[in-house]
Amino acid sequence: MTEERKPLEERKTLIDVRNLKKYFQVGKGLTLKAVDDVSFYIREGETLGLVGESGCGKSTVGRTIIGLYAATDGEVIFDGMNVNQLNQKQRKDFTRKAQMIFQDPYASLNPRMTVTDIIGEGIDIHGLYSGKERQKRIYELLELVGLSREHASRFPHEFSGGQRQRIGVARALAIEPKFIVCDEPISALDVSIQAQVVNLLEDLQENLGLTYLFIAHDLSMVKHISDRIAVMYLGAIVETAPSHELYENPLHPYTQALLSAVPIPDPTVEKAKKRIILEGEVPSPINTPPGCKFQARCRYAQPICKEETPKLKEIKPHHFIACHMVK
Ligand code: SF4
Repeated sequence: MTEERKPLEERKTLIDVRNLKKYFQVGKGLTLKAVDDVSFYIREGETLGLVGESGCGKSTVGRTIIGLYAATDGEVIFDGMNVNQLNQKQRKDFTRKAQMIFQDPYASLNPRMTVTDIIGEGIDIHGLYSGKERQKRIYELLELVGLSREHASRFPHEFSGGQRQRIGVARALAIEPKFIVCDEPISALDVSIQAQVVNLLEDLQENLGLTYLFIAHDLSMVKHISDRIAVMYLGAIVETAPSHELYENPLHPYTQALLSAVPIPDPTVEKAKKRIILEGEVPSPINTPPGCKFQARCRYAQPICKEETPKLKEIKPHHFIACHMVK
């Protein structure tokens, strides 16, 4: 059986992130711990949703995995290879296999380049096609993402937000990646367009066997596309579980609060639902105090929460949580 036909739990791990840290020095003796000891894996053809409020470090995780930032510590194993130890040829191969789609489709596309040039750039860098074959490939990619060959000679400003995101997807696909970090790819789009882009990404995954890390600030955005979800708070993962399990049985107080804000389509259920309002802002990730990072906003906090950092532990099969109070 081919890898993409196997049930998810039997597929091999494509990305294995181990104790990843990314710190930034932001002043005299001040360290911003954007990513602080994060571990997770993603299997081939799987989508892991990574969710958390603005500034929790989720985009930094994505950027560090694909090498846009150098890790402060920890390892990223991609397809069996440690990405911090690649030689020049292996690194070039890795940059082809691991791509990123950005949040703001307009800012991420060069306004002076035509769609052909934008999509063709990666093809040229990796020497994949030239001449007529290159143009044919660009037309194929445009059709693959729901655009047409007539769009090839146009500039980014001539497109709507949803179409620009499709160009961003075509650019990522141009070099035939295996893994794509989707960094809030629908957050800047109208709600009516968001579902179209999610459907496109799902179809491409099905047809091309892609693996995704899908980053979002809101649990409603990752619900349909994710096989599993990891919830991040202040640089750390606080809970991971299969998507349906996380929605039905959230255990971490932070996940419970995030989920209580997700609207439910049934008006009666929505009216009866209790919204958990988190007090205060996300604390600064600079020189964070010891213990649980969520302690200042947690209604269940106990003295131990100020002393010991809770580690992720498996509470049920495939359901992990970092909280002293959940046994
Ligand atoms: Fe709340 Fe303590 Fe659990 Fe942190 S460890 S989430 S502060 S109960």
